[in-house]
Amino acid sequence: AFDVLVIGGGPAGAASAIYAARKGIRTGVAAERFGGQVLDTMAIENFISVKATEGPKLATALEEHVRDYDVDIMNLQRAEQLIPGENGALHEVKFASGASLKSKTLVLATGARWREVNVPGEQEYRGRGVAYCPHCDGPLFKGKRVAVIGGGNSGVEAAIDLAGIVEHVTLLEFDSQLRADQVLQKKLHSLSNVDVLVSAQTTEITGDGSRVNGLVYKDRNSGEEHRVELAGVFVQIGLVPNTDWLKGTVELSRFGEIVTDARGETSIPGIFAAGDVTTVPYKQIVIALGEGAKAALSAFDHLIRSSVD
Ligand code: FAD
Repeated sequence: AFDVLVIGGGPAGAASAIYAARKGIRTGVAAERFGGQVLDTMAIENFISVKATEGPKLATALEEHVRDYDVDIMNLQRAEQLIPGENGALHEVKFASGASLKSKTLVLATGARWREVNVPGEQEYRGRGVAYCPHCDGPLFKGKRVAVIGGGNSGVEAAIDLAGIVEHVTLLEFDSQLRADQVLQKKLHSLSNVDVLVSAQTTEITGDGSRVNGLVYKDRNSGEEHRVELAGVFVQIGLVPNTDWLKGTVELSRFGEIVTDARGETSIPGIFAAGDVTTVPYKQIVIALGEGAKAALSAFDHLIRSSVD
């Protein structure tokens, strides 16, 4: 059995694996797709100490760094079930492949995925004008016109954030009113370079073949279609944590995120979690790395306090 078994091979999982292995304990990492969301990212400009890099390059570097240590890497393994060990017994994880692994402690780092609008152009122009993270990609649209799809808290926060960087923001909400907190809505309406469209259903993101040049939306009251010219579209309709396989085991928040304490421990002793899959605020690479390191150190601390066997 492992001392620390990490589920997930994104930044959080990679950091956990390295921190655990550096303690000289039996460490394994099982991931559906090593690299995680970083693989889907193009320009990364906020990985501190590296001025600019690309997702696939960073993902390769993460994996190479983990491979430098004595870690069992099991790629292309999708966890399907967690069976927590009771009273200090080993925890077990079952995989879609039929395999099953046991470990004294676990670090759950299965990340999250952005909810998509599912309109023509979204996939085609992903990373070429279609963006999901204002902290990451906002500065790429400096001085340009952009749209934000989604009028919940994250959409309105994104619009306020972007309004300070870009020339103009159009916020589109499907419903007849915004769903964000009043204080955010008030701030949004005070900004001179933001237009808010409600009852607006985005039907297409258009481009010139290489980059986004606009979007088309339907006014749900009149049924009329309109076109807005812009350089970027930020989709802000939710981040979905990859926790379907954990239902009924560790405590989840109402958004489905794993609830962790300051040390990264979940509601079950010996099971830790890190990165975008948890309740940690702000989903970013540097944050996932730090949280992953923290969870591994907490797992080690848990091991040295548990009975010796
Ligand atoms: P993830 O990266 O999501 O990794 C999760 C891992 O778990 C993957 O290996 C996955 O295959 C695996 N997994 C999932 N489910 C299972 C399962 N059931 N069984 C086994 N394995 C499983 N952040 C920045 O800081 N800067 C940026 O510029 C930036 N740009 C971004 C651009 C895009 C398009 C996207 C999508 C995200 C971007 N982010 C950026 C966010 C950043 O990628 C995430 O915050 C970070 O990757 C989170 O790391 P993580 O390890 O928690 O999760």
